Amino acid sequence: RQLPADPIETPSRRQVSGAAFSFVTPRVPSDPKVLHVATDVASMIGLSQDDVQSDSFRRVFSGAELLPGTRPYAMCYGGHQFGQWAGQLGDGRAINLAEVLENGQHFTLQLKGAGETPYSRTADGLAVLRSSVREHLCSEAMHHLGVPTTRSLCLLTTGDSVVRDMMYDGNARPEPGAVVCRVAPSFLRFGNFQILAAQGDVATLQALADYTIEHYFPEIATTSPMRYSELFAIVCQRTADMILHWQRVGFVHGVMNTDNMSIHGETIDYGPYGWLEGFQPDWTPNTTDRSHRRYRFGDQPQIALWNLVQLANALFPLVGEADPLQASVEQFYEQFNEKLTSMQASKIGLDDVVDGDEELVSQLDDVLQLTETDMTIFFRSLANVPKSLDVEQDVEGGLEVIRDAFYAPEEVKDGIRNQWHRWFRSYLNRIRQSRLSDEERRDRMNRVNPKYVLRNYMAQLAIEAAESGDFSLIGDLHSLLLLPYDEQPSQQRWFAKRPDWARHKVGCSM
Ligand code: AMP
Ligand code: MG
Ligand code: MG
Repeated sequence: RQLPADPIETPSRRQVSGAAFSFVTPRVPSDPKVLHVATDVASMIGLSQDDVQSDSFRRVFSGAELLPGTRPYAMCYGGHQFGQWAGQLGDGRAINLAEVLENGQHFTLQLKGAGETPYSRTADGLAVLRSSVREHLCSEAMHHLGVPTTRSLCLLTTGDSVVRDMMYDGNARPEPGAVVCRVAPSFLRFGNFQILAAQGDVATLQALADYTIEHYFPEIATTSPMRYSELFAIVCQRTADMILHWQRVGFVHGVMNTDNMSIHGETIDYGPYGWLEGFQPDWTPNTTDRSHRRYRFGDQPQIALWNLVQLANALFPLVGEADPLQASVEQFYEQFNEKLTSMQASKIGLDDVVDGDEELVSQLDDVLQLTETDMTIFFRSLANVPKSLDVEQDVEGGLEVIRDAFYAPEEVKDGIRNQWHRWFRSYLNRIRQSRLSDEERRDRMNRVNPKYVLRNYMAQLAIEAAESGDFSLIGDLHSLLLLPYDEQPSQQRWFAKRPDWARHKVGCSM
């Protein structure tokens, strides 16, 4: 589409119509400092070690200076928040700097926390250090776990302070401002399509969908009459794949609003996310969702499906008929449970799914909830159960291997103990039928069950240290989480249950 000759680059907050984005200029920070760079992300977008250490890196990725020939912009999107249509939201504190083509791949570079845009509504467009540390570390941890996600190139402080209402004491206190640079093919969300459909602006909707297909979905023919429903089918598959990974590693997004769903099926927008410690399908890290628990761990698949239906509604004016969209939704529904079962089977070391496995997996779901049991430690420990274990003779044998996973081992007695015994009996019977040796099973399990995840308290420790000027833990945790499936014996202290002091601490979103 033709750009206006003299585009307005004012951040004045407004309703935007007839457009998918607005040009904006990042805010110039007073004293930007680079705290951490993910060097593999830098090389992925073609930056050398020298580039990363240059002053121009610091200036560009803090928003102080623009890359020559670029025009940053913020995108317009809407969304359903907690099930309700919220109207125009948009990039309120995210600014797309530039797009990079490296080794045939598109990457969009986006600053988060670089100042106001037309979409900032009543907020300031800024980000605080604690939320930026959480986003930077978690994006990278997720990537190295094998979960599709936006990446985080770097974390900087701006030198400016930002005031947020603290959730717990109600007092405002100035906090260090920060910026992260996220990297993804694009930052298009379901909500980018929804807002245009809601406005009845089919021309811009079509322009956006065609742009999306042409630039980011090379597998769809740009001339195909079915291209919009093909796009939807691919988004359904990628979203399903992403959610399966979340369920595998125990990640809870916390705010699965449709504006936080990437069209690429990548995890996006790390706010009040959390990791399951005790295995509890009902758990959500989001304190604002503690009564309804809409975005609880166990409901993530069905929420994803609900969100996909909203995307289907948005694309409907382009598709013109419901059937092909409906078919993709049904396919998601039919295939997801099957995929979930085989993922869960792989977590307990089964290389195929036979009759009875679904029950074995669902019984495990139940016993894991009898008393608080650490998900990560449980699956990692289970890999050490030998086929030869005779639970009839050695009644405590199975429990001994997984004991470290219990937050209250003293509660594992009587009925609870019996239920665990029953489960171990079925499990041992099942793995004795498998052709995998103990070593093979353990190796397979250790490739799907991470040893190290970004437990909520770990991020909290890194934040507290950073707020008092010590940034080393950010780097240490980043390095640890580069190899989350490796044993890393010198890092054993991070393979431990959440300490007691962290029990009721949760992540903060803003
Ligand atoms: P989220 O809940 O983080 O997905 O954010 C929902 C909406 O609020 C998005 O449109 C964000 O861009 C916007 N938003 C969140 N925090 C800020 C902020 N500090 N300044 C401006 N907009 C924000
Ligand atoms: Mg968001
Ligand atoms: Mg957010």
